[in-house]
Amino acid sequence: MEERLLKYFRDHEAEIFGDLERLVKAEASTSDLEALAETRKVLEALIRERTGEEPLVYEREGGHDLVRFELGQGEEKLLIIGHYDTVHLIGAIQYRTEGDRLYGPGVSDMKSGLISAIWTARAYKELGIDPGRKLVFIFNGDEETGSHESSDIICGLAENARAALVCEPCVGNGDLKTGRKGNIKFNVTIHGKASHAGNAHKEGINAIQEMAAEILKIQALTDYEAGTTVNVGICQGGTKVNVVPAAASFSVDCRYKSMEEGQRIRREILELPISVPGASREVEIVEGKLPMEETQGNMELFAAAKECGRKLGLSFSHQFVGGGSDGNAVSAMGIPTLDGLGGWGDGAHSESEYLRISQYIPRIALLASLILDIR
Ligand SMILES: [Zn+2]
Repeated sequence: MEERLLKYFRDHEAEIFGDLERLVKAEASTSDLEALAETRKVLEALIRERTGEEPLVYEREGGHDLVRFELGQGEEKLLIIGHYDTVHLIGAIQYRTEGDRLYGPGVSDMKSGLISAIWTARAYKELGIDPGRKLVFIFNGDEETGSHESSDIICGLAENARAALVCEPCVGNGDLKTGRKGNIKFNVTIHGKASHAGNAHKEGINAIQEMAAEILKIQALTDYEAGTTVNVGICQGGTKVNVVPAAASFSVDCRYKSMEEGQRIRREILELPISVPGASREVEIVEGKLPMEETQGNMELFAAAKECGRKLGLSFSHQFVGGGSDGNAVSAMGIPTLDGLGGWGDGAHSESEYLRISQYIPRIALLASLILDIR
């Protein structure tokens, strides 16, 4: 089956790259709603033209609509996830080829993944392959800013799914993504008491001093071995150099691999004892993504993908990566999830974003084979 699929995609290489060009050139960053709507139209047209299925659009108040289509029948459901927004402003990257590299905004993250998904569906139809279960394809338009308008729909569709496959690009060395860190942000505000730095130094309560003590303790919560990083990225305080500062504030970014580590950091930061007598603090927690832990289910999916890869002549491993995707929330629901099943490139979120041309077709074959091989 692997070889049959690979041959099919090779035979249709020109059309596949043509579709990719069409979708990449429909540029839109997450915040550019007008352009995003145009991208969505192109995406819907590609789904219609290539799969014969009529896409269903979930309209969202903020304009970040989702596009869904389905294929196959059966009790069991497989969810295939992608996003059509990019981080790039229009015109940031010129669509061009240099050697084996295809440059373009979102070419790797992750329009190639969307084309992989659409062509997987087309291949099944044209080759008369019954996937034996219901395949639900869901593409959102706000992944790059946190999926605030789409996460509930994606998680709703993920309920009871046998597995979720995320068509984000693989790691730069070709590895798939079996885990992704979670993240939390903390905004800490310190209250002290202002006084004259010369005449009444003793009467003041220095909020910056308290902040400094807290920053050192919070930075020390980093545990590289456990995969937990804590970064105080912003701090501010005080008004004038000759005034004991009454207020200070700082923000902390935390990335972690397990729910347990997330709990540890939450607890430590909330319960941090005050160092400067009389000072007080408030902590605002801004919840980010839950971690995509390397569960047994995720690792079993990877093993299946590795075997498909072997049959296709591909060799790759797996990684636990720092950045999140829509796979995080789905995996946190207990749904076996594998990420990195889109194209192979590098430089995502930068002006040097590219896709490896020669590796694209085999990666589509990998996705199409894996869907059929999940037991
Ligand atoms: Zn992405």
